[in-house]
Amino acid sequence: MTDIVRLRVEENCKRLYLGLVQSRLDALLDQASREHMDYLQLLDLVLAAEVASKADKRVKMGIQIAHFPVPKTLEEFDWSAQPSVDPAQVRELATGRFVGHGHNVLLFGPPGVGKTHLAIGIGRAVVQAGYSVLFVTATELLAALDKARADNRLSDRLAQYAKPKLLIIDELGYLTYDKVAANLLFQLVNRRHGKASTLITTNQPVTHWGTMFGDEMVAAAMLDRLLEHSYALVIQGESYRMREKRRAGLLRPRDAAAAK
Ligand code: ADP
Ligand code: MG
Repeated sequence: MTDIVRLRVEENCKRLYLGLVQSRLDALLDQASREHMDYLQLLDLVLAAEVASKADKRVKMGIQIAHFPVPKTLEEFDWSAQPSVDPAQVRELATGRFVGHGHNVLLFGPPGVGKTHLAIGIGRAVVQAGYSVLFVTATELLAALDKARADNRLSDRLAQYAKPKLLIIDELGYLTYDKVAANLLFQLVNRRHGKASTLITTNQPVTHWGTMFGDEMVAAAMLDRLLEHSYALVIQGESYRMREKRRAGLLRPRDAAAAK
């Protein structure tokens, strides 16, 4: 009799996609018996375990889909090394509320100050908050859009990049862009505007964007959309790695200045 019931429970778990309950049935029943649970408590234990397992899977999958280049987290960020960043502002971004509102984030700063680290950390937190995220470098994104344009498949590619609730475009401005690139990026920004959030990291202040894109009009139109509802973080200071090396006595002050 119990064997039949057991088989039926397992079969129904499978049908209902309750993978965790199915695989941990004995452990859950043991716990319930050890803790003298009543029926409602047992049901609560079983459902909570399944919900937690599904949430965990969803986050793992979301992080895979986001294609972060390295597994950086906000917990690893050394706030004392970067006094120009307000931890409260980053924690607010990490709640994902800005994505719920379709607002944008711009991270400005010289190389090595933690822009990519913060972008990935915020991105992971946004996945945990339940939103889809995609991370691309500006170079990768523009190469993909340009190839799609040449292949007559631009519309599909734009639709693909328009989809994630948060698109992180890393390292805008490390290269200069021609008018075609500027126009492609504008089309994407325009598609996402008001519908989904974009987080951009860049070493170029907005006053240089006209020169960076070789087109003041397109740069102004892009900034107009990006800045309408946006958070801007301006990160200052020297490269984190240089600072660490200098502190460890591995660089003389002259080398550190030359390496900047
Ligand atoms: P950027 O994108 O601004 O050029 P990165 O985010 O790539 O800089 O940072 C360079 C390296 O230094 C990375 O390995 C990053 O994790 C580390 N780093 C930068 N700032 C910090 C910080 N405040 N705390 C911990 N690690 C940091
Ligand atoms: Mg970077």
